[in-house]
Amino acid sequence: MAGKGYKGKTCAYCGIDGISSTADHVIARAFFLLEDRAHLPQVPACSDCNSKKSALEVYVSAILPIASRHEDADKFQRDFVRKRIENNAKLQRDLRLDDPPQMVNIGGLIRPMHPIRIDAVKITGLMHMILQGLFYFHFGRPLSGDYYPDVLMLHNDAQAAFVASMSPYLDGGENREVNLGRGSFAYRYVRSPAYPDVTLWNFFWHNGVPLHGSDGIGANHWWGVTRPRTETVAREKIKQARGSSSEQFE
Ligand SMILES: [Zn+2]
Repeated sequence: MAGKGYKGKTCAYCGIDGISSTADHVIARAFFLLEDRAHLPQVPACSDCNSKKSALEVYVSAILPIASRHEDADKFQRDFVRKRIENNAKLQRDLRLDDPPQMVNIGGLIRPMHPIRIDAVKITGLMHMILQGLFYFHFGRPLSGDYYPDVLMLHNDAQAAFVASMSPYLDGGENREVNLGRGSFAYRYVRSPAYPDVTLWNFFWHNGVPLHGSDGIGANHWWGVTRPRTETVAREKIKQARGSSSEQFE
């Protein structure tokens, strides 16, 4: 897997120069059916970040397809979920798969779905890394250290206010929609024209796997945002204030 072009580059995740040893699939191949694994985005990664991310992927790829809304959801269940879970007794208990499934209407089809309990820390940790990886993949460098990646689930009511709070930075920015593996993982982003490290993303797993936050928020997708750290904002404000006062005195 270690592509030549990926060695000795800046790691897409920790941002350390010259440290990468391998090519990492930003969205692990385990999330895709065999026929959908060509041309997935890859970035350089160091071995520490790569193994940290792999551990998260093993967990999330075992459980996420349980609630799949993919057109090939049955195939995911048969080929992936059962095998991965059968080999992992602890995961079986954690997921409570012995509980009876709920019948859910998906696009007019009634399917049995298991209400699953997902370890929010693990899935959030993976989403952070995916956000950093996709940033690198699309913009050719890691997120600057003055900015941080954040992922969140938002209530429908809260989405408009959130988008409104970001739109002054993003209006007219470069934007793109990407669909990998026929809906296995889809995302869209917009990048600030004035602040190239400020970006806003939507991530959809398996055509919108229903997600539940710790506070009971239900959503079918994640938001990703890269924004300045508090110190960065403070520093910019001081710079601006100095700039404007010196202009006044000139
Ligand atoms: Zn790293």
